[in-house]
Amino acid sequence: MSEESKRREALIYHAKPVPGKIKVVPTKKYSSQRDLSLAYSPGVAEPCLEIEKDKNNAYRYTAKGNLVAVISNGTAVLGLGNIGPEASKPVMEGKGLLFKIFADIDVFDIEVDTENVDSFIETVKNIAPTFGGINLEDIKAPEAFEIERRLKEELDIPVMHDDQHGTAIISAAALINALELAKKKIQDVKIVISGAGAAAISCSRLYQSCGAKRENMVMLDSKGVIRNDRENLSSQKAEFATHRKIDTLEEAMKDADVFIGLSMADIVTPDMLKVMAKDPIVFAMANPDPEIKYELAIDTRDDIIMATGRSDHPNQVNNVLGFPFIFRGALDVRATAINEEMKMAAVKALAKLAKEPVPEQVNVAYGQTRLAFGRNYIIPKPFDPRLIAEVPPAVAKAAIESGVAQGRIENWEKYKDSLRE
Ligand code: NAP
Ligand code: MG
Repeated sequence: MSEESKRREALIYHAKPVPGKIKVVPTKKYSSQRDLSLAYSPGVAEPCLEIEKDKNNAYRYTAKGNLVAVISNGTAVLGLGNIGPEASKPVMEGKGLLFKIFADIDVFDIEVDTENVDSFIETVKNIAPTFGGINLEDIKAPEAFEIERRLKEELDIPVMHDDQHGTAIISAAALINALELAKKKIQDVKIVISGAGAAAISCSRLYQSCGAKRENMVMLDSKGVIRNDRENLSSQKAEFATHRKIDTLEEAMKDADVFIGLSMADIVTPDMLKVMAKDPIVFAMANPDPEIKYELAIDTRDDIIMATGRSDHPNQVNNVLGFPFIFRGALDVRATAINEEMKMAAVKALAKLAKEPVPEQVNVAYGQTRLAFGRNYIIPKPFDPRLIAEVPPAVAKAAIESGVAQGRIENWEKYKDSLRE
C-alpha cells in the first residue's frame, strides 16, 4: 500500500461511520418512566446521600471504580512532538479503545490546554474524584517526572505515566527473558542506553530494580555520553552519569551486552553491533523507526536477540501488554497507587507467560505456525487471551501484599474466571 493510501485509510477509519473511536453507553435499563425516575431524579438522590456520608460509596454506586482518565497536554505525542491538546485527542481515544477491548476498563480522554506544571497538576487533582485511576500520557520530559511524582503524592487513586512505566515494564520482561536465552546474569551485563528522556530514565531505573548495576550502564542523550563531569545535567541524567572517559556511542558499544534504544531512528550502525559482546541484546525501540533497522541488525549478527517497537517484526515492545492489565489489577483491589511492587509483579508475570506454551488461537491471530519461547518470541503477543487472566491477578496480589489495596479478593480462581469472561 502506498503512503498516500495508508494516510487516507487512517483518516477514513477515524472519520467513519462516526467521528472518533469511543462513545458512552448506559449500563442500566432506561425504557420506562420508572427506570428514568431511578436513573435520575428523584431516585438518584439516594446514592448521592450515601456517597456524601462515605466517599467510598462512590465505588458502589457510580462508575468511578472502572473508569480511568487518560490525560495529556499534547506536549510529547507519539514521535510527533508538541502538537497540542486537540491534536493529541486521537491518541488518547485510541488508548481508551485499548483499555476497553483488552481489560474492559472505561476511559474518559482528557486533553488539557496548559504546559504549566502547576496548572496541569491542579487540573488533574480537581477532576480526580470522577475516576478510579489516572493514566498520564504523552507529556514531555522533564515536566512529566514532576507531574507524575506530585500527583502520586497528592492523590489516593493509582496514577501512572504510561510512557515511562509501560515501556519499562514490557522491556524489562523482555530483557529478563533475553538474558536467560543469552545465558547472562543481569547484575553482570554492560548496558548502553541511547536516550535520556521519559522512557529511557524509567527503563533504566526499573532494570536496576531487576538487578542491573548502575556502574555497568552508559546513557547517551543528543549530546553524547552522559559523563559525570558534564555540566548542567538534570537530576535524572545525573543519576545515570558514568565515570568512564568516553564520549560516543561507538565507544560505549564496545563489549556491551545490551543496547536499549529510546532515542532516534538509524543512529546505530552495523559496525557498532559488530563490536558488541557475544549474543548481543538489542532493543531498538524508537518509534516508528528504530535505532537500527530490524533486517540490517539481524543480517549483521546472527547471534543477536532483537526487539523493536514495531508490530511487523518479532518481539514488539508494545505498551498495550501492560497498561490495560496493570490498571485492571489495581482497580480490582481499589489500590491507592501503582507502586514498584505492582510494576515488578507485572514484569514477572509477562516474562513467565512468554515461557509457557502458546495457545493455538495466538498462532492463528498472528499467522504463525508455532510461536515458542526463543530469540524470536521473548514477550507475549498483545492478542494473547492469557494476559487478562495472568497479569491483573499478579498486580492485585502485589498491591495487597505491599499494603496499598483497599479491597480484597477472596477467591483467586473465581477472580481469574471473571477476568476471562
Ligand atoms: P523524550 O522524552 O523526548 O526523549 C528523547 C531522548 O532521546 C532525549 O533524551 C534526547 O536527548 C535523546 N536523543 C535525541 N537524539 C539522540 C541521539 N542522536 N542519540 C542519543 N539520544 C538522543 O522521548 P521518550 O518519550 O523518552 O521517547 C523516546 C523514543 O522512544 C521515541 O522514539 C519514542 O517513540 C520511543 N518509545 C518507544 C516505546 C516503545 O514501546 N517502543 C515506548 C516509549 C517511547 P536530549 O535529552 O539531549 O534531548
Ligand atoms: Mg504515549
